[in-house]
Formats: sequence, C-alpha cells, structure tokens
Amino acid sequence: MALNQKKSNELFKKAKRIIPGGVNSPVRAFKAVGGSPLFIESAKGSKIYDVDGNEYIDYVLSWGPMILGHSHPAVVKALQKATEKGTSFGAPTPLEVELAEMVRKAYPSMEILRMVNSGTEATMSAIRAARGFTERDKIVKFEGCYHGHADGLLVKAGSGAATFGVPTSPGVPKDYARNTLTLPYNDLKAFKQLCEKTGKSIACVIIEPVVGNSGCILPRPGYLEGLRKITQKYGIILIFDEVMTGFRVSYGGAQKAFRIKPDMTCLGKVIGGGLPVGAYGGREEIMRKIAPDGPVYQAGTLSGNPLAMTAGIETLKILSKPDTYKQLMAKSKALEEALKDAARRADVKTKFYRAGTMFCTYFTDKEIYNFSDAAKTDTAMFAKFFRKMLERGVNLAPSAFEAGFMSLAHSQADINKTARAAYESFKAVK
Ligand SMILES: *Cc1c(COP(=O)(O)O)cnc(C)c1O
Repeated sequence: MALNQKKSNELFKKAKRIIPGGVNSPVRAFKAVGGSPLFIESAKGSKIYDVDGNEYIDYVLSWGPMILGHSHPAVVKALQKATEKGTSFGAPTPLEVELAEMVRKAYPSMEILRMVNSGTEATMSAIRAARGFTERDKIVKFEGCYHGHADGLLVKAGSGAATFGVPTSPGVPKDYARNTLTLPYNDLKAFKQLCEKTGKSIACVIIEPVVGNSGCILPRPGYLEGLRKITQKYGIILIFDEVMTGFRVSYGGAQKAFRIKPDMTCLGKVIGGGLPVGAYGGREEIMRKIAPDGPVYQAGTLSGNPLAMTAGIETLKILSKPDTYKQLMAKSKALEEALKDAARRADVKTKFYRAGTMFCTYFTDKEIYNFSDAAKTDTAMFAKFFRKMLERGVNLAPSAFEAGFMSLAHSQADINKTARAAYESFKAVK
C-alpha cells in the first residue's frame, strides 16, 4: 500500500540542494521516521492534500495553530479583506489593541502584553524581561521542554533536538548555556534543592506546564503549585510557556485548567490563526520594564502585523463562543477512546495521554512522567506506525516526541476512519 509520493520526492531532491535538509524547520524532514516528507499543495478543514493528490486527515495542524481546521471560511474572508487595506504599516493599528485585549481577557495574568512574530521571540523576550526586572542572570528550564531556538534555551530541549540527538546545539557559546540550569520535569524536590543552594541568583523558571514537546506529559498533582510557591519565596519569576498549551488545554490555557497564576506567559501558535505570531506578557511591574516604558529593549519590524492580528482575532472570536470548547473536548475525548480501543484490540502496549485538545500515544507499558521516560519508549515501533497511518490517509507528527492536535473541523467520520487506520497500523507493527 505504498503511497504515490513521486512529486514530493522530486521536490525534496530539489529542496535539499538549496535549503538545509530540504526544510525550513528540522522535524519536517521525517528524519526520525524515515522516508521523505510530503510537500503540501493545500488544506481544508480536517484534511491536508499533498502535491501528488493524496488526502490525509491531519492531526499535525501546522504543529498546533489550526485549531479551527485549515482555511476556516471566516478567517480566509477576514484575511482577504485585510489584505486589500495593506499588509504592513510599521505603525500601530486598532487590530493590535483588539487582539491584546482578547488575549488578556482569556489570560488575566497577562496584565500587559506585547505581540512578536514567533514563539521563539516570545520566550526569548520574556526571559530578557525577567532578567532585567530581577537583575539576576540564571534561568531554570526542564528536560524535554522546548522554548524555541534562542541561544541558551537549546539545552535539553525535547522533540527536535532529541530526535537528532543534539541535546545542546553547537554555535551556542558555553557562556550562554552556563546560565541555563536544567532539571527533570515533575521533580519538585530537585527544584527545591536547587533553590536552597542558589535560589537568589535565579531570574526565572520557564516551563511548559504540560510538556507538548516530549509528546504530552502531564504535571503530577501539586507539581505546578509547588513551583509557584517556591518561586515566590525566592523572588523568581515563573514563566509559563503556553505557546503550545495556550487555547489548547483550555481557552485559558494550562494556567486556567490547573488554576496557577504565573508571573509571565508566552503564547504563539493558536493566537496567530496560522500566521506568524507570538506574544509575551505578565505582571505590570515586570512588563513596564520593556522599551519604551522601560530600559529592556525588544522590537520588531513586522510585530503586530495587520494580517497576523486579523487571523488571530477571527480565530479567537470563534473559539470564545460558548459551545466551541465543549465540541473540541468531546471530539478529543472521542479520539482518545478510539485510539485506546484500537491499541487494546490490536494488543499493542501503549500509554495515551491527553490535555484538552493535545494528545500523544507512547509505545510503552510504563507511565510517562518526564523526558527520560519518554526517551525509553519504542521509537522504532512508532516510526513504523507513523508510516502505516500515513499510507492509510492519517497524518501524524513525524516523531515519537510530538503531540497530536484536534480541531473543530474533525468529524465523527474522521475519527472513525482514524480508528480503523490505527487498528490496522497497530496490528501491522506488532
Ligand atoms: C512551538 C513552541 C515554541 C516556539 O515557537 P516558534 O513559533 O516555533 O518559534 C516555543 N515554546 C513552545 C512550548 C512551543 O511549543
């Protein structure tokens, strides 16, 4: 049942001659699962179409942003209208204020916030603000959490880096990485001990409250609460990197679901509605340090871009309707049941985790609490499973350490088809 990938393969050959690895972001290259990537022609709703005319039910959703499904008519129409008014002005627009207010309403902990162009920019800028505010240099991150590719954050950074076995990237000066302290996720004792030793030199802790960049790892009960308490005690800024979990775990993100108020929050992915956007924000006294209110510099030629703001606003308008999350959660739950059931019937040992609309199936019979647990799962079996699913018209992320995503556009028929494909694929990889 091999896929016809003729045009994709030709394009990949051509792409590799001019783009590193043929791709503009590493995990897209399918290195972890073998074979060569699909080149995409278009996407609509829950479906994505490659240049060879194959159709797939898409659970990658541009790595999270397309929560309404692809090419949502309301978003497309708003973008068409916005394009005619001009695509960039380098000056403030009403759209930026509108989206910022929508975001703050959903994330009240972001008292003041700024738009940037990617999640990477958001985390990099939030950390700069935290360091500027506390006048401390050290930061703490957790193994398997990815916070974008800024220098100093590429230490034990989950999916992309883990997939390629490059825990720390060459090109990052040792002096930068030295200020990044790394601990295992879900281990409160380790964090407490670190703080007892050197808490007063730590500017901030940055964390994915649910780790989507090692699959989907949930916080143990009390873990996030513990981090909140200890950081407060030592005057450490707690940054929730909700670039993935934002509007995914719930409308108000992981902070709403777990009832934790971080000092700062980073967003991206969903708030751009498929266009390049990030945002960072938090307590007013920290955010007032940002230029031109304060001395911490951060800027962007295209930041707050009118098209990106428009896509974000339209997306949040639909997401904020009363019934939307009920539907999203019901679909996600139905997929969970279907995938678990398929694995059970095929008699393949898996662990499935879900946080709202993001999920992951690990090929293991042990519970997953941190990155080293995830790293011990059967990635070769996942790679085979991935290929079998693709052949059956289901597009999963091409790595065992990535989350899958549900959209509003996925139908019960999509879920049924996915369940059948999963059962056959589980059977085939045993
Ligand atoms: C995707 C992601 C980022 C990086 O965002 P980009 O827009 O790819 O730069 C940062 N943090 C988390 C948690 C992410 O999932």
